[in-house]
Amino acid sequence: MFRSKRSETAPHPEALRLMDVTKVHGQGENAVTALDGVSLSLPAGSFTAVMGPSGSGKSTLLQCAAGLDHPDSGQILVDGAEMTGGSEAKLTKFRRTRIGFVFQQYNLLPTLSVEQNTTLPLKLAGRSIDRRAARAVLGDVGLGDRLGHMPDELSGGQRQRVAIARALVTRPSVIFADEPTGALDLRSARDVLRLLQEAVRLHGRTVVMVTHDPVAASYADSVVFLADGRLAGSMLHPTVDAVAERLAHLGDVSAHHVPMGV
Ligand code: ADP
Repeated sequence: MFRSKRSETAPHPEALRLMDVTKVHGQGENAVTALDGVSLSLPAGSFTAVMGPSGSGKSTLLQCAAGLDHPDSGQILVDGAEMTGGSEAKLTKFRRTRIGFVFQQYNLLPTLSVEQNTTLPLKLAGRSIDRRAARAVLGDVGLGDRLGHMPDELSGGQRQRVAIARALVTRPSVIFADEPTGALDLRSARDVLRLLQEAVRLHGRTVVMVTHDPVAASYADSVVFLADGRLAGSMLHPTVDAVAERLAHLGDVSAHHVPMGV
């Protein structure tokens, strides 16, 4: 799976490091401290879920760690290289070479085919497009027979698998996934989570996934919990029950299975 001819230098043993990262949204009376001195170290080849109550800073953490937003202070290192502090152009280049994304709403371009969506990050990064490698990655995610299809001809689960292929094709150091199963039925969600697991276990990628769902989190190797913009503990080898229990203590109503509409 996800094979490639590209020879790679050995990754840095630490895929992601956050050092005292702080982020404030808004100004004056409306200022909200979304991240309050977060420090974190994730080894290469790990699969980490980020969980916490709504408003605890999960999205802000992901956006900052992925270089899509700027922290107000602190440092972020990806694959041993400092990401913070450079120009916007440098940051964009950094992102395109070292980081992959998977979003809840897939973010595919509707006018591009499955294959074109998958190779787009290579094009944007000015890299040569190895169509055989791209097709191999699409085969690996089970879409080898859908290369010419357009996104609106695919199910949600298939679209998310294209997004995973797109995230893998550049062979990034870290793949950030923001609620990747949030819009999917159970079976498609399971397929997506297994693909993320395989990216880590078979191919040594590092995955960081924000999720509300204890079932999704149980596919990860570990979970880090956030509360009020601060780290509030971690869990190795998470199980669904243990994660739900911990979330309940962090005050997340979603962990109590509140009925729809209440
Ligand atoms: P989570 O993903 O855990 O729900 P967020 O990172 O989205 O948390 O938000 C953390 C805090 O920052 C919340 O109080 C939220 O209201 C606030 N926040 C997030 N984005 C913005 C923004 N663009 N402007 C103002 N406040 C924001």
